[in-house]
Amino acid sequence: MTKSERKKRNNKSKDEQRFTADTAKLRKFKEPSKSSTFLDKMKARLSGGHFRMINEKLYTCTGKEALNYFQEEPSLFDLYHAGYKMQMSNWPQQPVNVIIDWLKKKSPSLVVADFGCGDALIAKSVKNKVYSLDLVSNDPNIIACDMSNTPLDDSSIDVAVFCLSLMGTNYQSYIKEANRVLKPGTGSNIVLDSGWLLIAEVKSRFDPNTGGANPEKFTNAISELGFKSVKKDFSNKMFILFYFTKKDKQNFKRKEIEWPLLKPCLYKRR
Ligand code: SAH
Repeated sequence: MTKSERKKRNNKSKDEQRFTADTAKLRKFKEPSKSSTFLDKMKARLSGGHFRMINEKLYTCTGKEALNYFQEEPSLFDLYHAGYKMQMSNWPQQPVNVIIDWLKKKSPSLVVADFGCGDALIAKSVKNKVYSLDLVSNDPNIIACDMSNTPLDDSSIDVAVFCLSLMGTNYQSYIKEANRVLKPGTGSNIVLDSGWLLIAEVKSRFDPNTGGANPEKFTNAISELGFKSVKKDFSNKMFILFYFTKKDKQNFKRKEIEWPLLKPCLYKRR
C-alpha cells in the first residue's frame, strides 16, 4: 500500500473501511450455492455497515450537502430507510405514533407540515392536510427538498413536526424555516389552535452527562426565536418530545441566538 493510499484509508470511518473490505470479500466469493449462509451474513453486514455510514453522513453534514448526496445516488435513501426501520423496530414506542395520537385529538382542519417525514406515516394516519417533506421523494405526496428551504408559503401551517429529523449540522435553519411557515399560535385557545411546533429527538442527544445538549439551552434557543415552551415529555425511554407554540408577537430585534450543538446519533455495530 502506498503512503497516499494508507492516508486515504486512515481518513475513512471504520464503517467505510469495513464496507470496502466486505465488498471485496463478497466479490471474491465464487460459490454462492455452497454457502448461502455465509453470503446472507455478508450481505446483512454490508447493508448494516452501509446504513451506519449513511446515518453518520447525515448527522455530520448540512441539509444542502445531504440533498446533493442523495440526488447523486437516490438508492442510498432506500438503503438508509431499510436500516432506519430495523433500528426503530427495537424501540418499545415510536415517537411518530405519539405525534399521530396527539394530532388525532386535535381538529382535522389543522394543516400540518412533517419535516423529514421518512415514509410519511403521519400523512397516511390522520385526516388533516399534511405536507410531507423529505430529501428524496418516492411517493407523489412527498415534497423533495432540503427542509431549510421548503416551497411552503409564509404563515400557512398550523402544526410543524420534526420527528427524529434534526440531523443536519445546520439544524437551527430547519427550525427557522418552520417559524417562517407557521401561523402564529394561540396555544390553549381551542378556537384558533395554531402555531404548534413539535420536536421528537433521541434522548441521548439531550443527555449532558454523555456529551449531549442541555434540553434547557435548546428550549431557550427556540424560545428566543419566538416560541413559548408548552411541555417537555421525558417519559419515553428512547426519545424526548418538546411542544412549543409560536408567539403572536415576534421579537425582530433579537440578539444572536446561542444554539446548543446536537451530537450525532450513531448506531453501534450489532
Ligand atoms: N420522521 C420520520 C423519519 C425519521 S428519519 C419518522 O419519525 O419515522 C429522519 C428523516 O429526516 C430522514 O428521512 C431524512 O432523509 C430526513 N431529513 C434529514 N435531513 C433533512 C433535510 N435537510 N431536509 C429534508 N429531510 C431531511
